[in-house]
Amino acid sequence: MSNQSQQSLGQSQQSSGESVIEVSNVWKIFGAQADAALTAIREEGLGKAEVLETYDAVVGVADVSLDVKKGEIFCVMGLSGSGKSTLVRHFNRLLEPTAGKIVIHGTDVMALGPRELRDFRNHKIGMVFQNFALLPHRSVLDNVAMPLEIRNMNKNERMRRAANMLKTVELDAWGNKFAHELSGGMQQRVGLARALAADPDVLLMDEPFSALDPLIRRQLQDEFIKLSAVMKKTTMFITHDLDEAVRIGDRIAIMRDGRVVQIGTAEDIVMHPADDYVADFVAGISRLKIVRAHAVMQPLEKYVASVGQPSAKAPRVNENESLSRLIQLAIDDDAPIVVLDDGVEVGVITRPDILQTVIEGAETS
Ligand code: ADP
Ligand code: MG
Repeated sequence: MSNQSQQSLGQSQQSSGESVIEVSNVWKIFGAQADAALTAIREEGLGKAEVLETYDAVVGVADVSLDVKKGEIFCVMGLSGSGKSTLVRHFNRLLEPTAGKIVIHGTDVMALGPRELRDFRNHKIGMVFQNFALLPHRSVLDNVAMPLEIRNMNKNERMRRAANMLKTVELDAWGNKFAHELSGGMQQRVGLARALAADPDVLLMDEPFSALDPLIRRQLQDEFIKLSAVMKKTTMFITHDLDEAVRIGDRIAIMRDGRVVQIGTAEDIVMHPADDYVADFVAGISRLKIVRAHAVMQPLEKYVASVGQPSAKAPRVNENESLSRLIQLAIDDDAPIVVLDDGVEVGVITRPDILQTVIEGAETS
């Protein structure tokens, strides 16, 4: 296990850098008796239903701690009502926590005065919403330029920047249309351009693609992945769809009833779900693109001890090679596959190893 988790940490390089979003023990309880409810939860271990009954209070977020690294795309995934939006609304202080601390780029968000908060929202944070939230009767270009207008940027400069952003999302031909004339997928590309126009440090996306048809949704996911690779914005991306989280996220936090029940790479979560709730989500996910050679292999010493040295002609792969590629290699070549980490032989993958990984994935679904 330790070997495995070390290797998957190595795989998501971003998770070892500087923290941009730091969330420490954040609680949000809605209701007039929120503080009393929190005390009772802490001291008596009251559950969500009891809190509602006794204190007429709703637990939105329960003791969440996480950190998002510079340039990372961090997904928060959970069923509807699990607390995802409540969590993210704290980051630009649309909500105040009942307890806990949030630091973004070294700034304690709760300590900001009204003026600083306005600056912080306008300069540091870009938001993309599920319902696009464009002004329908303003032009696409005006919509994208809006955050710059709020910042009092002169008109020429903001129009120039907005036009640039529109080009980035491949909508340059649509700048003079009204926002409502565009399809949903296009509107959300405008939403993304608007969020990025002000060049924020942090991008918050709350189910941005959930309202779109599956095909369009997939297309936007792909475009977003490409765009992110170029813009490298620290992003918190919220979704109720684990497939989407797996495609987009460097790491994923899974929420249930306000709590984070697991944080890890897609591979960590698919291979080692923390509980039945996570296992249920994972059951529908294909392992082929997620699981990597290092999670399939047996250690080299073990193989050598029982079988002997692998053949010099055996196919060789990097420890990050995908399961789907391993399957292809195993079809093409009878010899076991040798796994390399930084050029050093570390493991061996036999056909039974591959089949075992595939069947484990299939049996949980
Ligand atoms: P998600 O975004 O994961 O669907 P939410 O964060 O919207 O979930 O909601 C988490 C919980 O908090 C739910 O039980 C919801 O009913 C409750 N909640 C959210 N906002 C409020 C509010 N303003 N007042 C009372 N309860 C709320
Ligand atoms: Mg929500």
